[in-house]
Amino acid sequence: MIVTNTPAADLTLTNLAYCSHADLHGFAVPDTKLYLASIADSFVLSLSAHESVRNGHIALNAIQRRHARVSAGDTLSVNRFIPPANFDLALLTLELEFVKKGTKSEQVDAVSLAGQLKKIFMNQVMTVGQRVSFEFQRNNYIFTVNQVAVAGQEKSSTIERGMISSDTYIVFETSNASGIKIVNQREAASSNIFRRKEFNLQSLGIGGLSAEFADIFRRAFASRVFPPHVTKKLGIKHVKGMLLYGPPGTGKTLMARQIGKMLNGREPKIVNGPEVLNKWFGESEKNVRDLFADAENDQKARGDQSDLHVIIFDEIDAICKSRGSTRDCSGVRDSIVNQLLTKIDGVESLNNVLLIGMTNRKDLLDEAILRPGRLEVQIEISLPDENGRLQILQIHTNKMKESSFLAPDVNLQELAARTKNYSGAELEGVVKSAVSYALNRQLSLDDLTKPVDEEGIKVTMDDFLNALHE
Ligand code: ADP
Repeated sequence: MIVTNTPAADLTLTNLAYCSHADLHGFAVPDTKLYLASIADSFVLSLSAHESVRNGHIALNAIQRRHARVSAGDTLSVNRFIPPANFDLALLTLELEFVKKGTKSEQVDAVSLAGQLKKIFMNQVMTVGQRVSFEFQRNNYIFTVNQVAVAGQEKSSTIERGMISSDTYIVFETSNASGIKIVNQREAASSNIFRRKEFNLQSLGIGGLSAEFADIFRRAFASRVFPPHVTKKLGIKHVKGMLLYGPPGTGKTLMARQIGKMLNGREPKIVNGPEVLNKWFGESEKNVRDLFADAENDQKARGDQSDLHVIIFDEIDAICKSRGSTRDCSGVRDSIVNQLLTKIDGVESLNNVLLIGMTNRKDLLDEAILRPGRLEVQIEISLPDENGRLQILQIHTNKMKESSFLAPDVNLQELAARTKNYSGAELEGVVKSAVSYALNRQLSLDDLTKPVDEEGIKVTMDDFLNALHE
């Protein structure tokens, strides 16, 4: 198609490309009102019809032309883009900048901005690195898409693009140079989380733990939703510590990381008990200080407006063992525990941290660490029930199902029924082992250099049954 400029000035303020009605014919996405195309072989855009665009032309605004590396008059390839399953965005991180100052102040309210962005860009594709312009409260903004995480995929950094849905959680970032101050970011995050009636944990790669998750949110985060002056009036004290306990491999780490990410869009800090004991020997004070440094600086700079900083302490039983148990290197242990407690529970304690301790052995923990004001909310993460196991198996077979490597005879429901007392990690192991059986079938042991018939790879029910008997 031939590139032209976007017709009317007001249309430059969108992320859509425009074509004639006739040219949009082949591009509709079934069961939606969407038209999607990949242009110039890489850039994916939502299309819309506009009467002023001639047949055989595609109208792009300046930003879009730059992304597609074309100018008006150039010819480019336009292909239908079929969105993969799970294309809905779970997380979208945007960097905002002003283009032209409007009449309003430069304080941007994250709650209303997120609402407005979703309205304008609903079902539109966002690609990492892409710049988009839009108007909000008479100001013109440009944002750059910094990060997207598509529902159901864990490694957000590797994902290129996804589509905005009503569930998308938007995080705003600004550089100092932009002069924009974002207010209510925290409320935007929490309202986003709480508005969902049933949070779709499965789309975040966590199976079978929705009751536990709801419990965590109610007990540990409900108080953080209200603005500081309200919590002060109500006399609510935020929960600053939480313990997740239960058998290994049940998803405690998975869940704690996800909570951290959802609350402020960044990866939480993770430290590990046994490692801490070795590494911090003789320097525990400095290390505890470093661990809390970001939270402390943030609280100094922004007081009540500071973000919530999530710190995950894995295998916390290694340092907070009760007095009766073996007391090797007990001196180090005591000093680390004391310093941790001072940070969350002391005279000048921080108000903006949430320490999530994790353990497989709650019975070993020193009672002192579980008192109110410390790891006061304790949630058991137990082995999954049959329905949970089904969800976990679905999560870990999702990719091969999409790429049709999963044979139609695989009955996950039956596998869930036959895996009583398996943990999430063990179920993941079963899936991996089934895959290894399937791959092995495709290899010719006489000649390992022979090319593998990719199309022929199928993971069958027998592979899963073999994996169970391993
Ligand atoms: P824990 O911290 O409870 O020991 P992890 O969260 O480290 O367990 O789990 C290890 C791996 O097992 C995870 O990375 C994940 O791949 C898988 N897994 C465990 N529990 C679940 C679950 N509930 N849903 C999906 N995957 C799970």
